[in-house]
Amino acid sequence: RFPLPLPRADRSRLLVLAGPTAVGKGTVAAHIRENHPEIHLSVSATTRAPRPGEQNGVHYYFVDDAEFDRMIAEGELLEHATVHNKFRYGTPRGPIEEALADGRTVLLEIDLQGARQVRAADPSANLVFLLPPSWDELVNRLVGRGTEDAEERARRLRTAKVELASQSEFDHRVVNEDVATAAREVVELTSDSAR
Ligand code: 5GP
Repeated sequence: RFPLPLPRADRSRLLVLAGPTAVGKGTVAAHIRENHPEIHLSVSATTRAPRPGEQNGVHYYFVDDAEFDRMIAEGELLEHATVHNKFRYGTPRGPIEEALADGRTVLLEIDLQGARQVRAADPSANLVFLLPPSWDELVNRLVGRGTEDAEERARRLRTAKVELASQSEFDHRVVNEDVATAAREVVELTSDSAR
């Protein structure tokens, strides 16, 4: 079902950042993008529309359903999933292989379904689970960003409960109390000394 596993020598440089809704994965990834140009941050394909300020090819590759289907059919995606029952997201395989071949560390910021698929495709991938400081803080962040209505928030929080229960599947856990600190802890996992 998947393309062939990545070359063995490249495995430990593949880092996957996942975690529940509103935990701040995107913010931590953005912080790493700005401060660590040496790390290759994977740019996902998605069928959702760009938000204000989002650039095609920088934050995502914005594609329609037909193009997403084509990418799956041609084996261009390392993993893909429908997230929050809505839009499809997937990780293009080519740029990751190129970055690994160049000796770079690659960071994927994806959801839990995607993290599991990467683990299946590459058992040695480094999986990092981003945690909120507390359950109440996760609820505060979700409410605070005001991008979902009450029904959608309730649905995401149900999913988050289930996702938090799966954190033991991950190799590392990082608490996102403060973005810069969390980003530093993630980056430290990518350094040669941490391997
Ligand atoms: P957003 O639409 O807010 O940018 O992202 C929604 C969710 O999709 C986040 O949980 C994000 O981690 C996840 N996501 C982004 N890109 C990918 C991807 O390539 N694969 C998977 N499985 N999830 C992704």
